[in-house]
Amino acid sequence: MKETKKFKTETKKLLDMMINSIYTHKEIFLRELISNASDAIDKRHYLSLTNTNIPTADYEIKVEADKDNRTLTITDNGVGMTKEELENNLGTIAKSGSKEFLEKIANEKTPDVDIIGQFGVGFYSAFMVAKELEVYTKSVNDNTSHVFKSEGLESYEVEDCDYNEYGTKIVLHLRDNTEDDNYDNFMDEYEIRQLIKKYSDYVRYPIKTWVTKYDPKDDKDDESKEPKTHLELETINSMIPIWKKNKSEVTDEELNNFYKNKFMDYQDPLFSINVNVEGMLTYNALLFIPKKPFYDMYSDRQDKGLQLYTKGVFILDKCKELIPDYLRFVKGLVDSADLPLNISREMLQEDRAIKKIASNVEKKILSELSRVLKNEREKYEEFFKDYGLNLKFGLYENYGEKKDKLQDLIILKSYNEDKNITFSEYVEKMKEGQKNIYYAIGKDKAAVEKLPQMDLVKAKGYDVLILSDDVDEFMLQAIKSYNEKEFKSINQDDLGLIDEEESKKIDELKETKKDFLASFKEALPGVKDVVLSKKLVDAPCCVTADGGLSFEMERVLKAQNHEVKADRILELNPNHPIFAKLEGLANVDKDEFNKVANMLYVEALLQEGILPDDPQAFAKNLTELLMK
Ligand code: ADP
Repeated sequence: MKETKKFKTETKKLLDMMINSIYTHKEIFLRELISNASDAIDKRHYLSLTNTNIPTADYEIKVEADKDNRTLTITDNGVGMTKEELENNLGTIAKSGSKEFLEKIANEKTPDVDIIGQFGVGFYSAFMVAKELEVYTKSVNDNTSHVFKSEGLESYEVEDCDYNEYGTKIVLHLRDNTEDDNYDNFMDEYEIRQLIKKYSDYVRYPIKTWVTKYDPKDDKDDESKEPKTHLELETINSMIPIWKKNKSEVTDEELNNFYKNKFMDYQDPLFSINVNVEGMLTYNALLFIPKKPFYDMYSDRQDKGLQLYTKGVFILDKCKELIPDYLRFVKGLVDSADLPLNISREMLQEDRAIKKIASNVEKKILSELSRVLKNEREKYEEFFKDYGLNLKFGLYENYGEKKDKLQDLIILKSYNEDKNITFSEYVEKMKEGQKNIYYAIGKDKAAVEKLPQMDLVKAKGYDVLILSDDVDEFMLQAIKSYNEKEFKSINQDDLGLIDEEESKKIDELKETKKDFLASFKEALPGVKDVVLSKKLVDAPCCVTADGGLSFEMERVLKAQNHEVKADRILELNPNHPIFAKLEGLANVDKDEFNKVANMLYVEALLQEGILPDDPQAFAKNLTELLMK
């Protein structure tokens, strides 16, 4: 029975692109079709391991040209497709690569079709070179065979047929040659071999094509005549997966191409990591840090993990057990000889080999990062800009458990040097007598510069780390100290910076000013305490948070809908003239004193970027004072 169906709009859009493509590397269609064939064989092989009804075979992919009929045929003996699968898979866009491609060009006024090759556009890319195609297929799942035919325009046909082999055969009727494009090339023996080598060398199944061979010489042969030849079906690809090859055999370009194909990126990776381990546990891993984070890096819906192969057979696309969550941005695969082929998801969680591999993979990545930090600082900065947050979360989320592994990979902006530095670089430049590592919250140097608490730190010449990410302070609290130097917030902590004599003087003053401080506190019901400050030089006052919860953390947690409020402490500078003025006022005009006290408190809050609880009262107060 023959059925004609229309392509869905989205599919049509992609088809139009392909048919009208002026893309210069149309040759990538072969890579796409071979990759589909290889996936189909993977699927069949995997099914055959778990289902005895499904036979294995001598797996192969054939690429055959027929110059008389101007066709190119790609045949695989993989899973094949049922009728339903034919319609679902080829009648609509199944793949994210194609979708991503469409989305990308949809946003551009003059789409740059030259980017086609950078996406895995899959099956439809065949229409860049074919005016018509037929897909014969027989599914190992239901033994039925069907053919799908399309000219790529509006519709396709699906029909029963007698295709006797399990698997799929795609016949491309090549387009007519034009001035710009010679489609005959795709039927040229040498060209076909080149394309297979170039794009599909690592495919694990033999890719065969007909190759001209010279007949052995015969005495009777006339020397003057052309030598006789015959054709032999020959395997073209080396089949050794790129990750099994020796590092020295693989060029950077090959590695980059492999990455781009496999993980559907259009840029080379920032860097790649090759791991070969032999011994108690034998495995290879190939890991890549994408140049730019994938759009789904922070999405919880997206499964994370590395691809898992065992003995070269593909097992699982996203094995999350292979990589810690904070390294979720790493793409790659692990191929182990020590795992059973039929390992299930449940077994993975318990498997000791997997645990061991995961821990080595983590170690490898971190040591590579540390190498880049040391030797290629600029590249590391580029890396950290996009992925630093992940490492910071790695420290925070594990309650500092990963401190030893991760703390030396963190870089933060230095106030003194106005560039990113490590904790170790901070410590190296600590001043004589400096005990702590100081930090301030602020979006940049200019913001931190204005904090009233900075005066004293600046006077000492101490450096201050500028924390601008929400997670930064949480991270520092998780690791607490570096090389026994405690982290101190200049916004919050007692910095211990003034000299002993001065400190003693303030302690004594505290006693004599007890009543004044008490009435100050009374005037400010929202404040936990009012104290004399040991960290102010020029500013009249500042507000600090008591206990572990800082204002910054309060802000971050509130943004996540947590009901929290840090305890507020108002610190007064006893050396500031306003101190004496207020002291006088407290005794003569209670009402006026209350107002000024509140104004000062709001001033301190604003410097911390906190709005007053009652802005109306503040505004009223301000107007009254201005009227005086
Ligand atoms: P992708 O391969 O990335 O999913 P394609 O558009 O290339 O996207 O193919 C769509 C789907 O069609 C595939 O996911 C697969 O299920 C099916 N398919 C394509 N080629 C074959 C094939 N040779 N054998 C079996 N199934 C295939």
